[in-house]
Amino acid sequence: MDYLPLFHDLKGRRILVVGGGEIALRKVRLVQEASALITIIAKDYCPDLLAMDAKDTADGCNGLELITDAYEHRHLLAYPDTVMVIAATNDRDLNRLVSEHAQAANMLSNVVDDPGFSTVIFPSIVDRSPIQVAISSGGDAPVLVRLLRTRFESLLPAGMAKLGSLAGSFRERVKTKFSNGADRKAFWEEVFYGPIAEQAYANNLEEAERLLAEKLDNTSEFKTGEVYLVGGGPGDPDLLTFKALRLMQQADIVLYDRLVSPEVLNLVRRDATRIYVGKTAGDHPVTQANINQKLVDYALDGNRVVRLKGGDPFIFGRGGEEIETLAEHGIPFQVVPGITAASGCASYAGIPLTHRDHAQSVRFITGHMRGGKRDLNWPELVLPNQTLVFYMGLSGMETICQGLIDHGLDMATPAALIAQGTTDAQQIFTGDLNSLPGIVREARPKAPTLIIVGHVVSLQAKLAWFNNPESKLEGVINKDNEIQ
Ligand code: SAH
Repeated sequence: MDYLPLFHDLKGRRILVVGGGEIALRKVRLVQEASALITIIAKDYCPDLLAMDAKDTADGCNGLELITDAYEHRHLLAYPDTVMVIAATNDRDLNRLVSEHAQAANMLSNVVDDPGFSTVIFPSIVDRSPIQVAISSGGDAPVLVRLLRTRFESLLPAGMAKLGSLAGSFRERVKTKFSNGADRKAFWEEVFYGPIAEQAYANNLEEAERLLAEKLDNTSEFKTGEVYLVGGGPGDPDLLTFKALRLMQQADIVLYDRLVSPEVLNLVRRDATRIYVGKTAGDHPVTQANINQKLVDYALDGNRVVRLKGGDPFIFGRGGEEIETLAEHGIPFQVVPGITAASGCASYAGIPLTHRDHAQSVRFITGHMRGGKRDLNWPELVLPNQTLVFYMGLSGMETICQGLIDHGLDMATPAALIAQGTTDAQQIFTGDLNSLPGIVREARPKAPTLIIVGHVVSLQAKLAWFNNPESKLEGVINKDNEIQ
């Protein structure tokens, strides 16, 4: 660590500034905000510094003292109570001399834009006192520091304090209107996440106040909740969208199923109620009608309900059926897309789903049996230059591969099975239509699994990038059926 960051209490302590121009002015303003006693030594002063001096005198405040003189060592010696010296003239040698004198007297020394001759440097500051963020690169990367500062500025909106006092002035009225704590919380969360907060952050306080009063008048005490149908992606929590995360953080109740990974579920608001509605082997699943009804009931009770699904809710997710029921009951809902297993698994396995040389289209197909029969449109599936992605295909894998061969696809067409794609436990098995079922039967991969068929699979060996030591230990089987 090159520098130790500290926060310096300067109240009533003396700072000596050498220099009277614009650069000095900036530093003077800063240390004045921290209520320091400031003595400035300069031959000339810029108008702003003179104005600051005049203002102080008029206020009867003597925090600022201007000495019009060329700097000499005796000036510094005359103020032994100085805690820090700032050299801010445009004469580099003079600045360095000032710093030498300061350091000889064991005072902190800052030479503007010359960190090598300073014992302390000023950070970039985001000030929301009492919250402060100080950022520094030790002078190495000022542009990076500026970028970071902008990020922090936007993370901590300047109007946050104003929004707080506005909320304070409405607190009693909101309490009177909503006797139920959960309703009050929901009301305030909508205020803090919505346009009212935005107006306060933009310093439009009157407009913020008007909107808040209007919202209070128009929100009925018995509020209908809302349902968010959210795609949780294939497993890796980094693949969630910002919107999914935001809504998961606001939810009162979360209904989730088997495909939602524990890491994703972990990102749900801590005190939300979590309800599992998936199936486990041999268990009696919650029926779809039952789930649809639960969503309606919880929303009618005024809850914000997240229906969290693996992958994308509109791809083999029965998302359409769930929101149909909501629409019939007039319950407001939103749908948040997620990364579907085909995209997630293909990317993390290194199999591009389309490729100029191999496949100009891609099909997502369900391999699930209906009444024990697989009703697939075989003639279309065996057309050239396409990639086939089978969801829910593990148990029917042999039938699928054999069906494709029987309908005319070359048995040497590359094929892969990806198990638990995008997670740490991801496994990839590659072969061709003829060999893959046998490879998979041996390996007994854990669900969920996805099958990809097509020439794009041949690129996998070259394009695999997702490091997965665990699956290597268990054996990733390559195209030639060798354990790597
Ligand atoms: N809505 C989901 C799909 C639900 S159907 C989506 O868009 O991804 C369930 C099937 O999805 C599983 O049987 C499996 O084929 C596939 N699947 C989901 N997550 C997967 C994963 N992490 N790895 C491999 N396959 C997955």
